[in-house]
Amino acid sequence: MLLDTYGRQAVDLRVSLTDRCNLRCTYCMPEEGLNWLGKPELLTDEEIVRLVGLAVRDLGVREVRFTGGEPLLRPGLVPVLAACAALEPRPEISLTTNGIGLARVAPALRDAGVDRVNVSLDTLDPAVFQRLTRRHRHQDVLDGLAAAEAAGLRPVKLNAVLMRGVNEHEAADLLAWAIEHRYQLRFIEQMPLDAQHGWDRTQMVTAEEILALLRTRFTLTPEPSAARGAAPAERWLVDGGPATVGVIASVTRPFCRACDRTRLTADGQVRNCLFATGETDLRGALRSGASDAELAELWRAAMWGKKAGAGIDDPEFLQPARPMSAIGG
Ligand code: SAM
Ligand code: SF4
Repeated sequence: MLLDTYGRQAVDLRVSLTDRCNLRCTYCMPEEGLNWLGKPELLTDEEIVRLVGLAVRDLGVREVRFTGGEPLLRPGLVPVLAACAALEPRPEISLTTNGIGLARVAPALRDAGVDRVNVSLDTLDPAVFQRLTRRHRHQDVLDGLAAAEAAGLRPVKLNAVLMRGVNEHEAADLLAWAIEHRYQLRFIEQMPLDAQHGWDRTQMVTAEEILALLRTRFTLTPEPSAARGAAPAERWLVDGGPATVGVIASVTRPFCRACDRTRLTADGQVRNCLFATGETDLRGALRSGASDAELAELWRAAMWGKKAGAGIDDPEFLQPARPMSAIGG
């Protein structure tokens, strides 16, 4: 099992398949520049499947989420997903994507064994989308969402980041739209993980503000706290339910005490936290001929050293060297 000194067990593995992306969201990447990992540095498809298999068989991982960068850009995506879905015991498999290209690939994802997708959508306005992502691809995302729903990858979840003065006024519209389409919406507080280190605490739209914006149109009642478990989103029933909305308050209400995550970057580094400043190199060990037992031991040791919390709101907080797109969000 993947345990740490605070008694937590990691059962949820996030695997980044690439650090590349076809969007340039302002809260994630600079407008231009940002060096991609070279091909030799990336884990091969076989290496990914071997490490995920090890995590599932020997380390107690029950859920695997593939992310990036943009995971749909990985050429071998579907076979990797299918191989992971064929593992015993079979893990839950999900994918976090910006939705571009999803319209084409959604049925293949379902056939490969993907259980769910999370699609990132911050706005209903194509002009705001262009401003936020620096690309004209809004319709592609909407088409991707519709295709995911049609392919039965339900419930389709939506992730939204609100940026002050850019899309915060859309909070209630996004929720109304999500409910109408039966998508489950979660708002994420903006975190200091952008490549250009432009995050500013005073500019962040907080969970409190997000809730206040939603309450201008909806009645929100908390779901029973037991329902949150290790899930980072606090959820509210909208107008008495059954529709819900989630808020991931990583900065103002961190959920580190219940964290059950472990992370594998596209270049084969284990991270015990999104905000960890250190990593454990599994790729080097793997390519030097380490056995599964040796790799498992390295992974266990990496998790044992996990800190109590990320401490983003602490004055001494240090942003990790890698941006979100290279860690896997
Ligand atoms: N490209 C895919 C996507 O956008 O869904 C997957 C990777 S992306 C890094 C994963 C999630 O992280 C997205 O929902 C995105 O909105 C979110 N994200 C990126 N940068 C963030 C930041 N600085 N703070 C909070 N969330 C962020
Ligand atoms: Fe790409 Fe996702 Fe980062 Fe946006 S949030 S730039 S879609 S990796």
